[in-house]
Amino acid sequence: MNILLTGGSGYIGSHAAVALAQAGHKVVLYDNLSNSQLDVVSRVGRILGYPLVLIEGDVRAPDLLGQALREHSIDAVVHFAGLKAVGESVAQPLTYYDNNVTGTQCLLRAMHRCGVRTLVFSSSATVYGEPRYLPLDERHPTSAVNPYGRSKLHIEEMLSDLALSDASWRIACLRYFNPVGAHESGLIGEDPNGIPNNLMPYIAQVATGRRDRVSVFGGDYETPDGTGVRDYIHVTDLAHGHLAALNFLASASGVGWHAFNLGTGKGHSVLEVIQAFERASGMKVPYEIVARRAGDVASSYASSDKARHMLGWQAKLGLDEMCASAWRWQRYCAQL
Ligand code: NAD
Ligand code: UDP
Repeated sequence: MNILLTGGSGYIGSHAAVALAQAGHKVVLYDNLSNSQLDVVSRVGRILGYPLVLIEGDVRAPDLLGQALREHSIDAVVHFAGLKAVGESVAQPLTYYDNNVTGTQCLLRAMHRCGVRTLVFSSSATVYGEPRYLPLDERHPTSAVNPYGRSKLHIEEMLSDLALSDASWRIACLRYFNPVGAHESGLIGEDPNGIPNNLMPYIAQVATGRRDRVSVFGGDYETPDGTGVRDYIHVTDLAHGHLAALNFLASASGVGWHAFNLGTGKGHSVLEVIQAFERASGMKVPYEIVARRAGDVASSYASSDKARHMLGWQAKLGLDEMCASAWRWQRYCAQL
């Protein structure tokens, strides 16, 4: 298949590009580089042994998008492009709705015009809001607690309406849990600008000495050690989930709209992640328990039964591999 990856030079997109290209697909990247570096594309090329095409553009640019879809005879789109910082979405909701919701609408119009009807969308476990039961399965009610989450939910609903209106669409919304880690080569990984919001990149920067200590947000949750529990998933496993979703959409069962959780089904506390990182890196990771972070839930983890049964996909890598790869990448970053 010829596959266009919007946001393809970002953290998850670059790993998916490797997985899809290594499975024999022709991959074209489309990214406005608002949150990624051109250099990532050459490092993906080093992993693959040949260069990928990057089209530098915004998903809200319909002509360029249409040209990309036609010139590369695109069969399917994987739509990673979007803004993803929860706090920033609270401060700048219109920017988030414009980039994420309007951006997706533009993409869908371009796909419609060019006759491309297969889409995999990067959704998030955030669409479940405050968990009413665990593990979270795809039947759990959806809700949103911030503009970022609401943008994901609006997009999911827009995609569902579209599939209902026209039976030729094949759409999979992949609800990621907590993607972490990096490619085994150490050449690509997550490289946040400024102070990391997320746990794993923060820990990695403490381990290298770039930051003093991890602030653990809350030690009094109703969890085994009092710290927040999440379903961390290795980005390489996540990348393979996209391959499985595209194969499913191409099958007879793929018509219509589908949602799948991509998680491991296992929850790990903040302290467990810190300990695993210390084991993987051999470095000390000092931490301090501070107040809870507003909007955080105590525990969130997936039931990934649906993806296992319908996509034939299951996460293989555990927390130790996630930390080891994040550490390898962090050391490579330090040399860049
Ligand atoms: P990322 O910021 O590394 O990658 C997103 C890419 O999209 C970047 O390269 C950015 O330059 C590009 N982009 C943004 N807006 C664009 C636009 N209007 N036009 C073209 N390109 C644009 O983020 P990521 O972690 O790789 O996340 C990818 C997707 O997965 C996002 O939609 C995100 O919301 C979703 N997601 C991420 C996580 C996570 O923890 N990383 C969890 C759940 C869902
Ligand atoms: N967390 C923390 N310190 C940090 C960042 C995160 O204690 O510097 C905790 C957070 O409260 C949550 C878990 O780590 O319990 C994962 O947070 P992250 O921001 O990585 O992902 P989220 O689940 O919020 O999307």
